[in-house]
Amino acid sequence: MQNSKVKKVVIAGGGTAGWVAAAGLSKQLGKLVEVVLVESEQIGTVGVGEATIPPMRVFHSLLGIDEQEFMRATEATFKLGILFKNWGQIGDEYIHPFGTTGQGSYLADFQHFWLHGQSKGINQAYGEYSLEVQAAKANKFVVHKGGKINFAYHLDATRYAQYLRQFSERLGTKRIEGKIKQVQQHPNGYIKALQMESGELVEGDLFIDCTGFAGLLIDKTLKVPFEDWGHWLPCNSAIAIQTESVGPANPYVTCTAHNAGWQWHIPLQHRVGNGNVFCGEFMSDDQAKQHLLNNVQGKVLTEPRVIKYKTGRRQQFWAKNCVALGLSSGFVEPLESTSIYLFMNGIIRLMRLFPFDGVTEPLMNEYNQQSIDELENVRDFIILHYHATEREDSEFWRYCKNMSVPDSLSHRMDLFRQNGTVQLGEKEMFRLESWAHVMIGQRLIPEQYHKIFNTMSDQELTGYLANIRNQITEVVNKLPTHQDFINQYCKAS
Ligand code: FAD
Repeated sequence: MQNSKVKKVVIAGGGTAGWVAAAGLSKQLGKLVEVVLVESEQIGTVGVGEATIPPMRVFHSLLGIDEQEFMRATEATFKLGILFKNWGQIGDEYIHPFGTTGQGSYLADFQHFWLHGQSKGINQAYGEYSLEVQAAKANKFVVHKGGKINFAYHLDATRYAQYLRQFSERLGTKRIEGKIKQVQQHPNGYIKALQMESGELVEGDLFIDCTGFAGLLIDKTLKVPFEDWGHWLPCNSAIAIQTESVGPANPYVTCTAHNAGWQWHIPLQHRVGNGNVFCGEFMSDDQAKQHLLNNVQGKVLTEPRVIKYKTGRRQQFWAKNCVALGLSSGFVEPLESTSIYLFMNGIIRLMRLFPFDGVTEPLMNEYNQQSIDELENVRDFIILHYHATEREDSEFWRYCKNMSVPDSLSHRMDLFRQNGTVQLGEKEMFRLESWAHVMIGQRLIPEQYHKIFNTMSDQELTGYLANIRNQITEVVNKLPTHQDFINQYCKAS
């Protein structure tokens, strides 16, 4: 272990992960530690990562970020959830929303009410009981301070990194431009310094590897092994392009499954981000590019760019005096927009367990265990989207439908299939409603449900369910359109 105190943190890499780390550290611990970030404009960043999830707002409030200023700077729009098309079967559609759905009882969650209603011929979709789904379908939105609607953002990744750079530099983060040529180690293997191509030596006590898929410190230097999840998450390539907007921005991402993966559509204020995520074994790069170009609207603004990746994670996220954040630490899938959240939470976790008096095994082990648990929960949720399908129209979907999945996920799916119950750990990011929306949306309909509702009369049940729907309709009717709200909210003051 390293007993020397941590007074200087060096962040290698200035993509979204690097600047998120710099912003968090300089805001919260900037008076206690020196923060230096090294990045290379020549190498650039991965340049994708434009959809987010609601906990990002918690991170922003920790930094004291003004939402309207942030939205103007990053051309952001609001996100209420994701519209999934063609996942359970070709032609299927459902929205996985943020927020709560319906209202359950102490003994049984709302999906049991809903199932009882279905058995009595009340055929409204599960999404009818979600404010966020109904607002998304009507293209409506409003920010309620203190919040009724739960939401996240779509944003321009490049502008977001620039925004956080200004934020961090204002708080004292020192930025060094240039390529890292070599990583120097102490005799005990701890990292001593980054040697730049310019000859400069950037020494530090703690290093954060944000060098993206290159993994310059955690992989190339410390050789921490990678656990490959390709057998569960077989998509391994993506092609991204930007297009002109052709209409008002929707307050949701659209993920449309195709025969070897899926396509994203993310509406920003000034343009649309599009991408095709696919499995290279079942679709070539040229086919994927053509598929993407055939399925976008509006003038194409950028050259299609192919990104190859492996799904999985490092065996350790924190090894010696190096913590990996972002793509260097592992990658699940962009399907549920979790990466930015994971490294925001990663830097918060590091700051809570910060090794002020030197790196110790308990700190490192705790950090690693929490990070592994969190990522594996997210992993299971993403695999669910591929595995809970009736599609058999291509080799890719036959593989996904029939593949074996982690025991933790099989158990959860079996429990839901048999009696409609979802059991979650306390700290899981995706809550009950998320699991229920995706399982129901992908045709995993429970065979049984809790019998507590048999004690309700049909009239009570009908009234209860209708009341929830009516309240939602009343709220949605009064909301402005998403586009009108953005125009107003993001107007320069
Ligand atoms: P990068 O952006 O690659 O940054 C790496 C940095 O390291 C750069 O600054 C680079 O210059 C620097 N660097 C590397 N080598 C050297 C060197 N030798 N010397 C100096 N500097 C160096 N996340 C979401 O939350 N939502 C999404 O919707 C989403 N969509 C995605 C879609 C795809 C196809 C992919 C692949 C990822 C997606 N992600 C998404 C993940 C998200 O893009 C990344 O997590 C995020 O951008 C962070 O990347 P990074 O900072 O780790 O790496």
